[in-house]
Amino acid sequence: MRLALSAEIQAPRLEIRNIVRQFDGRAVVDDVSLTIQAGQVTCLLGPSGCGKSTTLRMIAGVEMQDSGEIYVDGKLICDTVFRVPPERREIGLMFQDFALFPHLSVADNVAFGLKGSKAEKRARVEELLHRVDLFRFIDGFPHQLSGGEQQRVALARALAPRPRIMLMDEPFSGLDNRLRDGIRDETLSLLKEEDAAVLLVTHEPEEAMRMADEIALMRSGKIVQQGAPYNVYTRPVDRSAVAFFSDTN
Ligand code: ADP
Ligand code: MG
Repeated sequence: MRLALSAEIQAPRLEIRNIVRQFDGRAVVDDVSLTIQAGQVTCLLGPSGCGKSTTLRMIAGVEMQDSGEIYVDGKLICDTVFRVPPERREIGLMFQDFALFPHLSVADNVAFGLKGSKAEKRARVEELLHRVDLFRFIDGFPHQLSGGEQQRVALARALAPRPRIMLMDEPFSGLDNRLRDGIRDETLSLLKEEDAAVLLVTHEPEEAMRMADEIALMRSGKIVQQGAPYNVYTRPVDRSAVAFFSDTN
C-alpha cells in the first residue's frame, strides 16, 4: 500500500511511452517517449516536418497513435484500445492561429471553457486578465486588440480552466519580431505560476533556449537528444544538430 502511494506521488504529470504514428506506411512519429513534470516547460524542438505537431495532436487526443501509451499523473489516458476523449483530458491548447472568438467579448473568450457559478467564472476571468495586464479590455472585443494582446488573451483563455497539461504549437510565430521576446517572457512567467506541465513545440532553437527547462531535439520522427538547454546546445549529439542550431540563429 505504501509503495503504491509513493509511486503515485512521483508519477510525472505527462508521460508518453513509445508513441508511433504512421502515414502511408511511413512512421512520422517513430517511437517517441517523453516525461514532463508539473511546473516544467519542455520544448519539442526540430525542423519543419519532423513530427512535432503530430506528437502534440496525439497527446491532445485529436489524433490516434498506432502504438504506444499516454499517461497523465500515472493514469493511462490513451493506448491503442482505451482512449479518454480530448475534452476530458484537462489539456490547454495554444496554436499560432488559435484565434479568439470574434463575436465574444474578451471576458467571454476567457470564460469560454470554464465551469462553475457565474461569480466563480467572473473571478477567474478577472484574475487572469489582471495577470496578463489586460484587465482594461475586459469588456472589449478581439478586433480592438493588437496581435500581441490577442495572444495574451488566448493564453489567459487556455489557462483559465487550470489545465494539467498545456500544449503550445509554435504559438509565437505569427507575432512580429519586435513583440516576440516580450511575449515569450510574459508567457513563461505566467506558465510558471500555474501548475501545468508545458510542452512547447518550436522550430526555433533560440525560442527553446529561452523558454525550456528541458529540450527534446526531434528529427525525422525521433527524439535524438534530450536535456537541459545548455547541455543540448553545448554538447550537440552530432553534426546535424550543430547545423540545426547554427542555421536558424
Ligand atoms: P512538424 O510539426 O514537425 O512540422 P508534422 O507533425 O506536422 O511536422 O508532420 C510530420 C510529417 O507527417 C510531415 O511529413 C507531414 O507531411 C506528415 N503528415 C502529417 N499529418 C499527416 C496526415 N494527416 N496525412 C499524411 N501525412 C501527414
Ligand atoms: Mg508543426
